[in-house]
Amino acid sequence: MAETFGGALTYKQLLNFEIDGQRIALVGQRGIINPAIFDATLTVTSAAEGPYNDHFDDDGVLRYAFEAGDPRAGSNRKMLVAMETRTPIILFERPISNLYVPYVGAFILGANFDDGYVEIAADAIIKAQVEAGLSEVEKRYATAEVRRRVHQPLFRARVLSAYDRRCAICRLNHADLLDAAHIIPDADEGGAASVPNGLALCKIHHAAYDRNLLGIDPDYRVHIDEALLEEIDGPMLQHGLKEMHLTSITVPKPKTQQPDKDKLAHRFDLFLAS
Ligand SMILES: [Zn+2]
Repeated sequence: MAETFGGALTYKQLLNFEIDGQRIALVGQRGIINPAIFDATLTVTSAAEGPYNDHFDDDGVLRYAFEAGDPRAGSNRKMLVAMETRTPIILFERPISNLYVPYVGAFILGANFDDGYVEIAADAIIKAQVEAGLSEVEKRYATAEVRRRVHQPLFRARVLSAYDRRCAICRLNHADLLDAAHIIPDADEGGAASVPNGLALCKIHHAAYDRNLLGIDPDYRVHIDEALLEEIDGPMLQHGLKEMHLTSITVPKPKTQQPDKDKLAHRFDLFLAS
């Protein structure tokens, strides 16, 4: 058994899964894990010895029973959100107690309300690897994938909360219209999911920042691209962008949550060079 499931993760590892110093439980007493900061289900665990008779069919699709009660309420609700928004989930298969085999990037394909289950497709490639037994390299890959899946919502939740759900530039106060922007992009070295590498920005200011039409210097001042400043157009350009030139961004009060000045300087150089 240990040979076959040599790449599996243990309950303890998954209960205290650490990302940037914050612990997130990826498994628990229940089969469906819906952390409060995520809109959609994060993980689903299918236990071979479980009460629900979950099983994979020949196409690698798992029939996973709804949690008891209303299939559209409780823990089931966020599974349906994951289905409707095509948000990838992490599926754990628990072949024996305390061993979890991860399928990262699984999708909930559909729901059968009459018979009370959802259909979950495990990623075909990862499933093949799992069946062959995960090597150390593949285990690291799976762990990195879990980390990636967890990173973005966690980063968003932290940054939006630090900025009181307001755009740092224009103070727009609608979470639906806000993003957590990375100062140093995620994939770059130093692109951590930490608040000092983030800025809460509204969609338009985020897009302008990413495209270097707007820069923020290390003294927290906004700079608008010179060509844009000379352009004459409607109210969005005038009020939304041009009038923001040389204004100061609003940053969180705690020093530990304020944007990292070195990161801002590095990013601002790219704005100046563009
Ligand atoms: Zn804004």
